[in-house]
Amino acid sequence: MAVAASGVLRVVNPATLEVVGSVPVAEPAHVQELVAEAGYVQERWGETTPVERADVLRRLGEVVLDRADEIADTVVAETAKPRAEAYTSELFPAVDAATWLVGSAPRLLASERLRFGKLHLRHKRAWLEYEPVGVVGVIAPWNFPFAIPFTQAAFAVAAGNAVVLKPSELTPLTGALVGELFEAAGAPAGLVRVAQGDGAVGEALVKAHGLGKLLFTGSGETGRRVAAEAGARLVPVTLELGGKDPMLVLDDADLDRAVAGALWASFTNCGQVCSGVERILVERTLYEPFVEELVRRLPTVEVGPLISEEQRARVGDLVVDAVSRGARVLAGGEAPDRAGWFYEPTILAAVPADARIAREETFGPVVEVAAVAGEAEAVRRANAGPLALGASVWTSDAARAERVARRLRAGTVWHNDHAYSYGAAQASWGGVGESGFGRTHSKHGLYDLTTPKYVDRDSGRVPVPWWFPYDEGSADAFRAALEVLYRDGLRPRAAAAWRERRALLKLARRYRP
Ligand code: NAD
Repeated sequence: MAVAASGVLRVVNPATLEVVGSVPVAEPAHVQELVAEAGYVQERWGETTPVERADVLRRLGEVVLDRADEIADTVVAETAKPRAEAYTSELFPAVDAATWLVGSAPRLLASERLRFGKLHLRHKRAWLEYEPVGVVGVIAPWNFPFAIPFTQAAFAVAAGNAVVLKPSELTPLTGALVGELFEAAGAPAGLVRVAQGDGAVGEALVKAHGLGKLLFTGSGETGRRVAAEAGARLVPVTLELGGKDPMLVLDDADLDRAVAGALWASFTNCGQVCSGVERILVERTLYEPFVEELVRRLPTVEVGPLISEEQRARVGDLVVDAVSRGARVLAGGEAPDRAGWFYEPTILAAVPADARIAREETFGPVVEVAAVAGEAEAVRRANAGPLALGASVWTSDAARAERVARRLRAGTVWHNDHAYSYGAAQASWGGVGESGFGRTHSKHGLYDLTTPKYVDRDSGRVPVPWWFPYDEGSADAFRAALEVLYRDGLRPRAAAAWRERRALLKLARRYRP
């Protein structure tokens, strides 16, 4: 946690409430300068080849590995998440992204030759060039303060862009490290700039002139504001917003694995995961043993604190509201009596539809379990609500998993696992509905950070039949050509050619005036 005081962010460890560092805050007016400077650096960087950029990314991966402990220390100091999670959820995705980009970005970003089959275009030599968008603004949350901004910046840089990163004001030390690592890897000075501060600095970044793209990861409320502002400036934006992921446990699921998966996916990072499981929908025949085992094994869960007093109060309020409307607390449900912003891992049952927690993202260590009559009800309930980031299906029948996956409304569907694919760079990441739009990671995330430019070569010797002047037969001739070129099948094409032979002959003569 960090507190703004006289131009600095003081960072507080949410478990011990000790101050662990501070960073100077950027003046909102200074943000425009950072964007302009990043723009200068990008001009040169954008001229490098994807292969040259891959060299920097290769070193970046090495630098992250060399400094893995320092990164983990910083993340743990700012968030107090279990140290194991600093490696699994922060470092693994980061190194995987750098490594995947080294191997894949040069191929994906290489000029792509297009070939035209149709006669009137066959002489063209054409390509798609994937050009950088320029300066990418990255506005990041605190829950994965390293993995999210690092992977987004790495993708942007691989595509030839510069980055101005606005880390969360709650995790600025990790944000500062992201910028440092790019420089340590030999990226040009200033290619990845960091603007520290709260929402006002984020707003200044959104309003800065010269942005080619914005990647926003955070709450739906802020995301809407950012999208409106970016829209007014016609700056394209990718929104990675909240989720309320369902986990569908079907009657043929491996109970042991499903319970273990549910505990991890609901409580890792203290539930502060956009694609954390918040709703477990269990087929009725498995419900009793599943819940019994879930509660029995709850003590194996290891959670840190929530990020702030405010977050803990919000989670507590959601639980109180649910209970006041009839929900049952099967375990947890209290803030323990100790220093820090801790809240007990909590399991709720019988959550009524009118409870706030049934609709709002909890973003804390609370999960709801509910029995469903069968697959159809599981899918219906999973798809209810506006948030649709991830979902998982737990069954030992792969065909069943595929069938259910097709019917689930979500950006990602996992089978017998949950959320892991943030750490697999070739997997697309992003939501549908109010969970956002656009994609990060994967070839789509990379292409989203480029502007495809169509470029061609023409010898200038082939006459162009559709240029001026038109005459009274032109329309008939083009209509005939349309049929001959595009009718499905040789027979109808040949018939069209014969039927319209006069118009076509006339058109052909335009090639030899
Ligand atoms: P938040 O919306 O409060 O803040 C996100 C970032 O936006 C911060 O850096 C903040 O300073 C900045 N900001 C605040 N006001 C701004 C403004 N007016 N203009 C520009 N920037 C502004 O979110 P948070 O609390 O940091 O993060 C938690 C949320 O993020 C949760 O809803 C979670 O689901 C979501 N999230 C989504 C993903 C995903 O991949 N879809 C990943 C992680 C977190």
